[in-house]
Amino acid sequence: MRAEILNSLFADVETVPGVGKSLKSLLDNLGIRKVLDLVFHKPTGFIDRTYSPKLNEVREGETITVTVHVDKHMPPPSGAKYFARGRIPYKVSCHNDSGVLNLVFFNVKGDYLTKSLPVGEQRVISGKAEFFSGNLNITHPDYIVPVDKIGSVKKLDPTYALTAGITQKRISKMISSSLEKLPDLKEWISYEYLKENKWSGWKESLVSLHNPISENNIDPVGRVIRRLSYDEFLASQLSLAITRSKIHKTNSVKIEGDNFLNNKLSKILPYKLTNDQKKVISEISADMKSGERMLRLLQGDVGSGKTIVALISMLKVVECGKQAALMAPTEILSNQHYNTIKKFADEIGVRVAVVTGKTANGVKGEKAKREVLEKIRRGEINIVIGTHALFQEGMNFKDLALAVIDEQHRFGVAERLELASKGKDIHILLMSATPIPRTLTLTYYGDMDVSLIKEKPVGREPIDTRAVPSSRFNEIIDALKRAINDGNKVYWICPLVEVSEKIDLAAVESRYEEFKKIFGEEKVGLVHGRMKPDIRQTAMQEFAYGEKKILVATTVIEVGVDVKDATIMVIEHSERFGLSQLHQLRGRVGRGNKKSSCILLYTEPLGAIAKERLKTIRETEDGFKISEEDLRLRGGGEIMGTKQSGFPEFKIADISLNSDLLIDAREHAKEILENDPELSSERGQAIKNLLYIFEYDKQIAYIKAG
Ligand code: ADP
Ligand code: MG
Repeated sequence: MRAEILNSLFADVETVPGVGKSLKSLLDNLGIRKVLDLVFHKPTGFIDRTYSPKLNEVREGETITVTVHVDKHMPPPSGAKYFARGRIPYKVSCHNDSGVLNLVFFNVKGDYLTKSLPVGEQRVISGKAEFFSGNLNITHPDYIVPVDKIGSVKKLDPTYALTAGITQKRISKMISSSLEKLPDLKEWISYEYLKENKWSGWKESLVSLHNPISENNIDPVGRVIRRLSYDEFLASQLSLAITRSKIHKTNSVKIEGDNFLNNKLSKILPYKLTNDQKKVISEISADMKSGERMLRLLQGDVGSGKTIVALISMLKVVECGKQAALMAPTEILSNQHYNTIKKFADEIGVRVAVVTGKTANGVKGEKAKREVLEKIRRGEINIVIGTHALFQEGMNFKDLALAVIDEQHRFGVAERLELASKGKDIHILLMSATPIPRTLTLTYYGDMDVSLIKEKPVGREPIDTRAVPSSRFNEIIDALKRAINDGNKVYWICPLVEVSEKIDLAAVESRYEEFKKIFGEEKVGLVHGRMKPDIRQTAMQEFAYGEKKILVATTVIEVGVDVKDATIMVIEHSERFGLSQLHQLRGRVGRGNKKSSCILLYTEPLGAIAKERLKTIRETEDGFKISEEDLRLRGGGEIMGTKQSGFPEFKIADISLNSDLLIDAREHAKEILENDPELSSERGQAIKNLLYIFEYDKQIAYIKAG
């Protein structure tokens, strides 16, 4: 059980003074749901409020903080119609010895201005300077405070990622209130390490992060952020170590198939396996034969043919009379795997089922699902494919011996483990299309065995990748019309907007409406993440097999989907995507042996890093090279789409900048668990709090379960 002292952190944001229903739903757009999320909403920069120039020396756009004398209030004329009053500003003129300053307000309600700016008194004003017909103005100052309260103006005022409807002021206030709820926790970092790094305590560090007294406080490689990053690394390394010690190096059933199924498969397989595919298959079968439990990561770039490797491995298990499971992150992908595998399985006499949240073998409803589950329980199904529904309650295997987890980085550590617990010490094969740079494999997968598929199946044409400015939009549309007439299909990926999923949605929907007019209603499809899964599924199906020739989509199509005659991909605002993500997206085309192309639309002017990024993606299709570059370029601060890039997600930490801490954390996690495997010492208790803070509740439960 989580210690009570942490409750205030896990309380709903509504417990923060001033946060009601409407603000709560806006905060949700930023992923902020509880007090802790506010505390971890790290500043993106700061405004310097120490700049206090003479009024006659101020330049346009500067943020200034000045003390002035309030002279006169000029409300909009009371005769103005109600709707017009909103647009005619309320002005307050002020001055000091160096000049005149007008304060400008729109939509003023009540008497707060007469109260906060009484005529004849002095006030400290901070805000952005603007000039209108030669007069110096500040519209809606950030601060208006009496001179004796000047201390409440933050000298370095942090700025935060926002969403429509929430201002900097508002979020700062909420964060300040949430900081007041921070409990005093026992230190989890060892005394020596803390001292060596000259770090402050957790609470103090969070307070300084949001109340920087110098630039150093929010420097990504400064002491404050390094301490908070280390916390995050330590928690993640502990959770990995706990998971590993739970699943690794136990004995497991020996799988030594006689190939009677695989021989049949090789006769009907329409292609020859590549050498790399053969190599990884033999690595996997050696593992499963060994008597020790397999825990292997299969890495292979998009389109390198991992699915068939999974099938061959699963057949070995079936040859031994046991069951195998293949888990995929989405319903679309599960069904796609099912269709691919069923074709072969039917011919060689292997029984396959697919189970997702609400459906079984594509049929909706409790009854259909119960029947399939019953067959799985009785062992009448040999290979079960599905989403995380595979490890939900009610899913029981007769004799599960191998779990394959596709696109493994999409699942949490706990989810992977849960599938593993459906059988007794089963073999585990994780698959990943996102090549993880060498620097990360070690720290992330430490003692896990890794297999690589480097070569692509023969006969693949390289994808012709071009960067095109969005000013040439009309030309692109004409080219697409011709291509569609020639029987090609097109993916059109809509821009990624950093903070708000809602804006993403608006963009994709308006593009869809526009394209229906341009290309004809019946030819255009739409998929995005907010659609109900079955509707999205239908849309994908219509694109893959039906009438639809052009699919307008957000990045949801990124994961493993295979539509052979889709040969063109257009990515809007490609400069906003991460490299690995662009690579993954592009991997959706060029899957057959038709010539494919990828058009990266960008908006000018391009920043230096964005330019380099687009150059890399144009020049190479080597996923490993691309991910190394990604990690390097992400250091430049233009971090985008981390969520989809396949790198583990952190709230505060940035691996590309503080990887030394990650390596330390890995060592420390090992030591901690060796000395205190149940985390029962005093420091162990403190470490449990750390794990709860980062929501590794499940891992803590595993410690107890032994
Ligand atoms: P990924 O590794 O991205 O999951 P898939 O398993 O989906 O790749 O394979 C991509 C495509 O390549 C599929 O259409 C598959 O049938 C085909 N394929 C796989 N192996 C080979 C091979 N050795 N030769 C030719 N085509 C292959
Ligand atoms: Mg795949």
